[in-house]
Order: sequence, then structure tokens, then C-alpha cells
Amino acid sequence: MDLHGKKGLVVGVANAQSIAYGCAEIFRARGAELAVTYLNAKAEPYVRPLAEKLEAPIIMPCDVSVPGELEAVFARIQAEWGKLDFLLHAIAYAPKADLHGRVVDCSQEGFNTAMDVSCHSFIRMAHLAEPLMPHGGCLLTVTFYGSEKVVADYNIMGPVKAALESSVRYMAAELGPQKIRVHALSPGPLKTRAASGIDHFDELLERARARTPEHLLVSIEDVGNLAAFLASDAAASLTGNVEYIDAGYHILD
Ligand code: NAD
Repeated sequence: MDLHGKKGLVVGVANAQSIAYGCAEIFRARGAELAVTYLNAKAEPYVRPLAEKLEAPIIMPCDVSVPGELEAVFARIQAEWGKLDFLLHAIAYAPKADLHGRVVDCSQEGFNTAMDVSCHSFIRMAHLAEPLMPHGGCLLTVTFYGSEKVVADYNIMGPVKAALESSVRYMAAELGPQKIRVHALSPGPLKTRAASGIDHFDELLERARARTPEHLLVSIEDVGNLAAFLASDAAASLTGNVEYIDAGYHILD
């Protein structure tokens, strides 16, 4: 899990409970130098102190739905580092009315927004990262089991995460010849801000705890350890996977 000499981009830190922050802490502890983004001016006061704690030399705004902001992040990485070794895409969004409603009732606009922010933004990141990874690299995103099974209240994010996981497989195949590896991490439920947008999330947490073989919930550090392994050279033979980090949640009926 040695990441010394590696440069990584982390998108998705909102606060210290964010999965992205749990991963960033481990990336940094393993020696990586990080670029960290925040959503907008409202998020900056929460994210900047965390990014400074991570000694990130690049701290920038990035709302993937604002044209040019993602491109500006990659332009700065190109100018300052001239390369990128790995990135973590840990963002998702769906408008509340669509997230809380049935898939059957999802609006076209809500679907497009959810797909754009939660899935196509990862494709855009891969596209921008490719020229910065001439000697290979690793692209990580974050998904959830609701992509493959119907999980109560996960609603439209299920189809969106299914598209994200399929994109991981296609991009892993396309980028394999350049030694760029692509994975989706699939954690069990974690109490984060995004999770609080899902109806009855506490019940989902308790169901997960009851269901897992050891009656465990995972932590953002657990996700970070897996992410750091995948970003390291030790994981050079792995690509295209949905990597469960869910205390066994997905194995039971
Ligand atoms: P979080 O609220 O800490 O992080 C979500 C992030 O998405 C925030 O930093 C937010 O700023 C960012 N974001 C939203 N819209 C954006 C946009 N337009 N541009 C850029 N960034 C934007 O919550 P989290 O749980 O850490 O979520 C991270 C990822 O993990 C998401 O993809 C989520 O679906 C996934 N996930 C979460 C859980 C869970 O139980 N919390 C489980 C499995 C997967």
C-alpha cells in the first residue's frame, strides 16, 4: 500500500465524515501527495481546513455541473505536477423529489442530472486523466449494492449506480492497454451527508448491521484502506472490479 511518489486527485470531500476524506487520510498516510476539491464557496470553509490537514498543494473548487471547473482542476494538475497517478471520484447527487420518489415517477430532468453528476462526471474525469497517466494509473469511484438489487428507498440511485459500474468495466477494458486500472468501491451504508438524503437511512444502517455475518458496519477508514491498496502498485493485476467493502452485506439473500 505504499503511495510515496504518487499524486492523487480526490473529489468528494464535504466534511470529515465523507468517504472521500476517509480515503484521502489513508492516501496521505501512505505517502501520496493530494489535490483536493470542494463543491463551491459555501463548502470551502468546511473542506479547506481538511485539505490543509492533508497538506494538499492543490485545493480548488469543482462543481462538475459547472462548465470548465473540472477542466480547470486538470489543467492545474498538468501545470503543477505534469502527471497524475490516481483519482477518487466520490460524488453523487439526485434532486430530492426524484430521489425520494419511485423510479417509475422519476422526471427526465432529475434522471439526467443524477446521471450527469453521479456517472458521466466519472467518464469525464477518466477522459481528462488519460493524458496525465502515460505510465499507467488508477481511477476509483464509489457505488452501492442498490445498483444490482432493489434496496428500499435507494430509488433512482440504483439505476444510476448500475450505469456507473458498467462504465467502470468498459473504461477498464478501454484503458487497460495503457495500464490504467478502473474500479468501483462498493461500501456498506455509512452515515454521511449524502446518505442523510436517503429516506429511512437509519433503518438501512440497522438492516445492514443485522444482516452482515459479523454484525458489523464499515467505516470510512475501511474504505480508505481498500482504496489505498487499489491505488498502489501492489494491485497492478486488478482492474474492472466492483470491490465490496461491506462486511459481507452482499453475500446474503
Ligand atoms: P458526502 O456527502 O460526504 O459526499 C458526497 C459529495 O458529493 C460531497 O462532497 C458533494 O460536494 C459532492 N457533490 C455533489 N454534487 C456535486 C457536484 N455537482 N460536483 C462536485 N461534487 C458534488 O457523502 P458520501 O457518502 O461520502 O458520498 C460519496 C460517494 O459514496 C457517493 O457517490 C455515494 O453515492 C457513495 N456511497 C455512499 C454510501 C453511504 O452509505 N454513505 C454507500 C455507498 C456508496
